[in-house]
Amino acid sequence: MNKQILVTRSSLPPIEEFSEKLASIWDSAWLTNMGKYHNELEEKLTNYLDVKNISLFVNGHLALELVIQAMNLTGEVITTPFTFASTTHAIVRNGLTPVFCDIDENDYTIDVNKIEKLITNKTSAIVPVHVYGNICNINEIEKIAKKYNLKVIYDAAHAFGETYENVGIGNFGDASMFSFHATKVFNTIEGGAITFSDEKLKAQLYKLKNFGINDETTVDVVGSNAKMNEFQAIMGLCNLNYIEEEIEKRKKIVMIYREKLGNIKGLSICNEKKGLKSNYAYFPLLVDENIFGVTRDEICEKLKDKNIYARKYFYPLTNSFDCYKNEYNVNETPCALKISHRILTLPLYANLPEEVVNTICDIILKLGKK
Ligand SMILES: *Cc1c(COP(=O)(O)O)cnc(C)c1O
Repeated sequence: MNKQILVTRSSLPPIEEFSEKLASIWDSAWLTNMGKYHNELEEKLTNYLDVKNISLFVNGHLALELVIQAMNLTGEVITTPFTFASTTHAIVRNGLTPVFCDIDENDYTIDVNKIEKLITNKTSAIVPVHVYGNICNINEIEKIAKKYNLKVIYDAAHAFGETYENVGIGNFGDASMFSFHATKVFNTIEGGAITFSDEKLKAQLYKLKNFGINDETTVDVVGSNAKMNEFQAIMGLCNLNYIEEEIEKRKKIVMIYREKLGNIKGLSICNEKKGLKSNYAYFPLLVDENIFGVTRDEICEKLKDKNIYARKYFYPLTNSFDCYKNEYNVNETPCALKISHRILTLPLYANLPEEVVNTICDIILKLGKK
């Protein structure tokens, strides 16, 4: 490739639409603090995600940190290490102990058969991840949470716009966090949201993202600053007009990948779950070097030689990060460990040209034949 092909490329609305809204921010000179566009986006996302309650944030990570704080969790939280740094950090930064559960080898979400034996009298919540937009086993998680009286907060950073059995994905568990980072299916430059079931959480989240300020003279919780500003909100409003188109274009690319790489010995791809309306956020490819003949790392290098940048996402596991050195044992999550060494996410974004997708597949297939 003459041009660098990165794993993702941010979707941008037509610049005229953005400029028009930008000009109106100049008129009002209202830049942040729950402005008109913030409120409009909140309303539109409530509709689009088909949820009861939503609260917008400056980014997904702070949204997750603050919803954990809002729920007053204590002790231990069961989660997975096969995720972005954010999930684990959000738990630890709240003074809680992450307890790592292994993942399912087919869809890389939390292995529901391994949750119960990790529950102790200190467990207060489960934080599962809809990783790559693959939906967790929601029904089993709900059963376990009910039985042990645990809160469930989904990291739904990858699951924007998905539905399961025609229900918006943000309706499951006690709360879900969405990320609107530039690299995600829907972006507000940086941004995020919490969707939640208990209406009472709304006021608490509002306070927590605004320094814990209750009214002009009372500050009654140790809050943070995590408000979404008006510039982020107009980017969201503009991008939301094109979201269906965005997902449709991604789907086309995923279909090519699936067709070309789906039936190759030594390569595994994720199948679509029954009942799920996917957003085609990522295309993870699992490489079994013993069968395919070359390793994930070799494929990644060979693509790089051709100016194509796939990502080893998620590698390394969060429970092996330097900052958690000696605290956790990666061997307790052997399936996640194995997959983290074999997974490669291929370039995927709305305007990725089809011929590039074909080239990527051809490079990979040629490597395997050797
Ligand atoms: C992107 C992401 C986040 C964090 O979202 P930001 O908006 O970037 O703060 C959290 N979890 C996962 C799995 C993510 O991919």
